[in-house]
Amino acid sequence: MEFQTFAARAADVEAESADLAVVDLVADLFAAADGDDLGVVARFVQGRVFPAHSETKLDIGPRLCYEALARAAGRNVDVDDVEDRLAEAGDIGAVAADLDLGGQAGLAAFGDAGGGSDDLTVGEVADELADLAAAAGDGSQDEKVTLLFGLFNRCSSEEARYLSRLVLGEMRIGVGEGTVRDAVVEAFDVPAASVQRALQVSNDYGLVAETARDEGVEALDAMGLEVGRPVQAMLAQAGTVTDALDEWDEAAVETKFDGARVQVHYDGSEVALYSRNMEDVTDALPELVEFVEAHVEAPVILDGEAVAVDDEGDPLPFQEILKRFRRKHDVASMREEVAVELHAFDCLHAGGEDLLETPFEARHRRLQSVVGDESAVSELLVTDDADEIADFEATALDDGHEGIMLKSPDAAYTPGDRGKDWLKRKPDVETLDLVVTGAEWGEGRRASFLGTFLLSARDDDDDGGEFETIGKVATGLTDEELAALTDRLEPHVRSEDGQTVDIEPAVVLEVGYEEIQTSPTYSSGYALRFPRFVSVREDKTPETADTIERVERLADQQ
Ligand code: AMP
Repeated sequence: MEFQTFAARAADVEAESADLAVVDLVADLFAAADGDDLGVVARFVQGRVFPAHSETKLDIGPRLCYEALARAAGRNVDVDDVEDRLAEAGDIGAVAADLDLGGQAGLAAFGDAGGGSDDLTVGEVADELADLAAAAGDGSQDEKVTLLFGLFNRCSSEEARYLSRLVLGEMRIGVGEGTVRDAVVEAFDVPAASVQRALQVSNDYGLVAETARDEGVEALDAMGLEVGRPVQAMLAQAGTVTDALDEWDEAAVETKFDGARVQVHYDGSEVALYSRNMEDVTDALPELVEFVEAHVEAPVILDGEAVAVDDEGDPLPFQEILKRFRRKHDVASMREEVAVELHAFDCLHAGGEDLLETPFEARHRRLQSVVGDESAVSELLVTDDADEIADFEATALDDGHEGIMLKSPDAAYTPGDRGKDWLKRKPDVETLDLVVTGAEWGEGRRASFLGTFLLSARDDDDDGGEFETIGKVATGLTDEELAALTDRLEPHVRSEDGQTVDIEPAVVLEVGYEEIQTSPTYSSGYALRFPRFVSVREDKTPETADTIERVERLADQQ
């Protein structure tokens, strides 16, 4: 296919605003592309030069592109002119289209591997850009400018518009992944679900388009994950325990580790580690490579988090992992300073079997079976009990982690998807400082401690400084905290009736919650949904605790 055909179609697409018409235009373009050209145009329309999972990068900075353009535009244009025009036009494509390129055909022959001044094809553009990406070492910048100059020199105005945008990653003609998917469906008459799935496992739009065209639906359906080829990471939405338990029978609860996402590929001889953006970060994390070689059964693809830890193995803040994660130099010395651990939380492929469609709970069991060291596997709690979730969260926070994730136990792994099947629990937006006005003795192991605390807000309307009840908190406290709180409260006990204790207002607790509801259960007329102990407000007295008025205001704001 001539590059001019591609550029003209890109211009049509850019001018079209209706989504369906855009899909038609792109589908026509795909249908007209022969052989390998299809893979190339499937990437080019999205502004990609290489497949999403590819490690190859063009590595062309704006200056380099301006220089190539200036050279192709002839003696009267220099880099500063290109920059001035860009400042005015705001789009490198418009600047390139406006320059009178190609006057330097004779000069181009020096650097242009393709040579000649015949029409450019998309295949040639792809090949030249691959050569350009491969240029490395001393003098590579000059080589890149020369190669790019050679291409611009052969461009029509429209071709220059889209080539300049392509190389600078600024295509922006309104074609996203969804458009390409729909265009493949339309051009080659294959089911959307098959295309979608093939894209998820391969991450390669060119490959999927060519497979749909050449081999049809069976071949698409047979495409699988490949150890060594990264997959887009499944993402999470913010959500609450209420969302999770309303939506699913049970929630799968895990610690949310505060680190960097890492996808582990191990074929038995080589480990590869990829970031959330599918960058290869293997060389930066040798201890994870060693860990995987020693403890993980191959072939396998795992998903997890790389977390920086101190000498005791306690998690360090997020900034610390950044010192290690993409590091190219001084890896060994930095390793001495900041240690990194793997917390695997998912298994996408094991023993030759793709597990994307397998329910999460079963994937997690598979994860446990392939990782020999359980300390590297996230602990999973599957429950419908909000109190258990709150306890799990309290432990996670106490251990220095970021919080919890709530996952649907039945959900498939959907690469690249920020769906409702994974929720990162929102931290409490506001907390309330409430007075303890009652308690209940604990049970079993906790029988000697006060366990459940009745909370009240101050009623300011009442001159007497009355307190009105609003809820009970029983979760989020460690044994030590319970013991200390029992000691603090015992001198204020007014009366006891069985398990139940009446306490005079003295101690203020900071309490988190998910929602404030109106409720006849408590004398304030309000109740807290999923209250959670945060801290003892040693600095506050009952007189400075939160008022019913503030509770009302917060309830209104929800
Ligand atoms: P956020 O970056 O705030 O959107 O939160 C989602 C990120 O949390 C994921 O991309 C992971 O890197 C990270 N994460 C930490 N622990 C887990 C876990 N147990 N399951 C899934 N993601 C996790």
